[in-house]
Amino acid sequence: MSVQTQIQPPLLLQNAVVVFSKNYLPLARINIRRAVVLLVSGQAESLEFSSNRQWEIRSPSLVLQVPEHIRLIGSNPERHWKIPPVSRREVLRRDNHACQYCGSGKRLTLDHVIPRSKGGQHTWNNVVAACESCNSQKGDRLPQEIGMIPRNKPKAPVHPAIAFSDRFWKTQTLETD
Ligand SMILES: [Zn+2]
Repeated sequence: MSVQTQIQPPLLLQNAVVVFSKNYLPLARINIRRAVVLLVSGQAESLEFSSNRQWEIRSPSLVLQVPEHIRLIGSNPERHWKIPPVSRREVLRRDNHACQYCGSGKRLTLDHVIPRSKGGQHTWNNVVAACESCNSQKGDRLPQEIGMIPRNKPKAPVHPAIAFSDRFWKTQTLETD
């Protein structure tokens, strides 16, 4: 089931092991050296998938199988993450520093998609990055009134681990296709 390969020193530097949270959310890729520390110190356990590779690490006192996927046992890193406040910095980051109407990266401001004067809230679902020019062109009007619809439907940023998780599962699908 598992193919054992002799470990080569340069491989230690590669991010070959995927670490999962206690809740089976893939968090990040780490190198084997770090994975060994987590396994030996009891902070992580091997996570068995059907066709995993394993690396065999040998020292005079220890033979350790390092799987491709490990799972943290103790802490729960995703619990400590909160959705950031709707600030200029966070909104620009979410929108990749691009005006959500014309794509410009210059003179960016925050625009309330539904204007505040019409009951729009200062929330992740209603605030987008907009350049000064688009913002003043849109003014106090509703998106449909002036035909200015944000390119991406605004929503709250996701936990970094969830973003990693999405990318991870996409690559998994590609590999098994
Ligand atoms: Zn613009």
